[in-house]
Amino acid sequence: MVAELKNVIRVAIQRPIYKLLDYQCENKVHPKIGCRLRVPLGNSMVTAIVVETDIESEFKNLKDVIEVLDEAPLIDDSMMRLLNWASIYYFYPLGEVLFHALPTALRKGKKVPKLRFWCTNRLGQVLELDNLKRAPKQQLMLGLLKKGEVGEQQLDDTFGKTWRSILKQLDKKELVEFREVDAGFTTPKYQEKPPVKKQVTLTEEQEQSVSSIHKYFKEEKPKPILLHGITGSGKTEVYLRSIEPVLDVEKQVLVLVPEIGLIPQLLYRFKEHFPEYSVAALHSGLTDGERLRVWMGAKTGAIHIIIGTRSAIFTPMKSLGVILIDEEHDASFKQQEGFLYQGRDMAIKRAHDFNIPVLLGSATPSLESLQNVNQKRYYYLRLASRPGVSKRPEMVVQDIRTLPLEAGISSLMMSEIRTHLQNDNQVMIFLNRRGFAPVLMCPACGWHASCNHCEMGMTYHALVHKVICHHCGVEEFVKPTCPDCNSDKLTTQGQGTERVEQVLNTHFPETSVIRIDRDSTSKKGALEKKLQQVHKGDPVILIGTQMLTKGHDFPKLTLVGILDVDQALFSTDYRAQERLAQQVLQVAGRAGRGEQKGRVVLQTSQPEHPLLIALLSKGYSKVSQDILKERKLWHYPPFGAQALIRVSADSENAGMNFLNKLLLQLRSELDNFDSEGIDLLGPIPSPLAKRANRYRFQLLVSSHQRGQLHVTIEKTLALLVKFRRTGGVRWVIDIDPMDFL
Ligand code: ADP
Ligand code: ZN
Ligand code: ZN
Repeated sequence: MVAELKNVIRVAIQRPIYKLLDYQCENKVHPKIGCRLRVPLGNSMVTAIVVETDIESEFKNLKDVIEVLDEAPLIDDSMMRLLNWASIYYFYPLGEVLFHALPTALRKGKKVPKLRFWCTNRLGQVLELDNLKRAPKQQLMLGLLKKGEVGEQQLDDTFGKTWRSILKQLDKKELVEFREVDAGFTTPKYQEKPPVKKQVTLTEEQEQSVSSIHKYFKEEKPKPILLHGITGSGKTEVYLRSIEPVLDVEKQVLVLVPEIGLIPQLLYRFKEHFPEYSVAALHSGLTDGERLRVWMGAKTGAIHIIIGTRSAIFTPMKSLGVILIDEEHDASFKQQEGFLYQGRDMAIKRAHDFNIPVLLGSATPSLESLQNVNQKRYYYLRLASRPGVSKRPEMVVQDIRTLPLEAGISSLMMSEIRTHLQNDNQVMIFLNRRGFAPVLMCPACGWHASCNHCEMGMTYHALVHKVICHHCGVEEFVKPTCPDCNSDKLTTQGQGTERVEQVLNTHFPETSVIRIDRDSTSKKGALEKKLQQVHKGDPVILIGTQMLTKGHDFPKLTLVGILDVDQALFSTDYRAQERLAQQVLQVAGRAGRGEQKGRVVLQTSQPEHPLLIALLSKGYSKVSQDILKERKLWHYPPFGAQALIRVSADSENAGMNFLNKLLLQLRSELDNFDSEGIDLLGPIPSPLAKRANRYRFQLLVSSHQRGQLHVTIEKTLALLVKFRRTGGVRWVIDIDPMDFL
């Protein structure tokens, strides 16, 4: 007897391994690429995703697939290609990448839920309800079904037990149909007449941008478009108009923002502008169920516009027409743990693969994007003014070397705050440090609170009376006396947002002081509540960290005070200048967005610092081109490419030895191919040399060319997977690193 022929498939699983696994299926079972399976692995069962079918395995005695979970692929061909590319580009295991792209519920192996409902067919949709005048119940039911699909439960609730017989009548007349589809699917909403839009008249600049964008969108091979519009220039309005023709031809739109806090405002404006379309948000604040529903809605085409954070780039879309990336310069687009991808770059790649346009917007574009414009790879559009009466804010540097300070706020700043509040306006104070003070110490003996696990200072948080390590999160209650000398006179140094809040409260007891940072907004809905309070327009003082810098539109805000830029001026990270310029201009951009002129006061003890002077006198466009020239000289990105090999271990020796061994072998590998222009820097301890009891080291690999970097990292990876990992060594490859911490 001939042995039964089996078919063999290759799958990826969610494990940090750089290989794929082969399994065999029953003869009749042919799972498609992109479907999930249950497969045996060791003594357990895991969820797997099919990546290849009909293969010839080099292994005999393959195990059998236990169950096929999906009839239709969850990951279609084009998405599979994109994720494959990401796995190769970022040197991250394919299985991890594929599972990362699925909503949590599906990662866990849950079946895609089915929806059963009744809806109208074409005939039922166009039939005038008057025709059913003589059957009022049928008329009522058809009226309901015309508005969208209706499940059994709703029919039960609306019509009671008799709904089946009413429906049967409609079915006989061939007006309705029954459907069973994947959850998330909904029939298109038939709106009677969309409510009238609140139309703003575009400025000439906006008008020109929109018409250019429409033209660019139609190109056969669309190039990315960079919309460089100063803060408050009305970029959002341009986005809205730009995508109208895309939606008109029944294509979908994907909007990416760097931070969850920006979503409510955008969601509102998109919903208001497109009442006839379904708009949904996708971010980490949703429950697993909500995420799945939105994900399926996008996949089936029921949702037309998705607004989401970084990971929304993996959302499957039935017919994606354009991707928008707001605040494209923002470093939050880079994932900082696990799969270290850059959301913006993935979006550009996806748009390129799908041959659709991508629109990037920012008031302070990234140097990468500006360099792409310089090389004519991106189109460039500029919005240089604010619409209406709103003018660019005035920016001044305030030398604090001779001024009295209280909680880091100068006496002059204090009186400016008073004036703006007296004029019935709002004020914002920016300080990128949460907590009460970064140092808690004993003046008697010099002891200061530091984290045992990180060997770094802990931040004093007065409201919870704790010291907290901002690196590993460890917390301790503050004891009344010094642990070293028992002195009961512990003091703090420096300031965080809590202290600024306290001091401003005592100076302005009549005014609400609203602190917005990670601590004050951790509860669900807390941020929205605080923002609402600001939007009411009464005079308030806002205190915030970088959470506040992005996107927000507060028309009554006229004064922005920036407390501390000095640290960033002396950073050794070559990206620090770019980041500081962006941050200062973004914060500044919150001022004077309404009718009153805005003023921005930048406190510093370095008033002559060339970057500050350049920023104020020349503006961002010029400064960014200057920084680019410098980067070119040093072959820093975007003129060269970098990867960081990060290692952490239980001991200093283990980490250092591991990287030294890697360096040695890598050097000899590099001798065997043309490695001119490749630089290996390290191993060195990371700037944050110890975190959560792990010692951290890094090796920076730089190259003048991306292709060459890629080959080098391929060789690096081949070595890394072979090395034994003693001493608790863990490594990760960070392609295009955004920071070196
Ligand atoms: P950006 O995203 O560039 O910072 P926004 O799109 O938030 O700016 O616009 C800033 C403010 O200007 C918003 O309140 C917006 O409603 C308003 N605005 C935008 N375009 C116009 C226009 N053409 N006429 C009047 N107001 C406008
Ligand atoms: Zn002491
Ligand atoms: Zn710590």
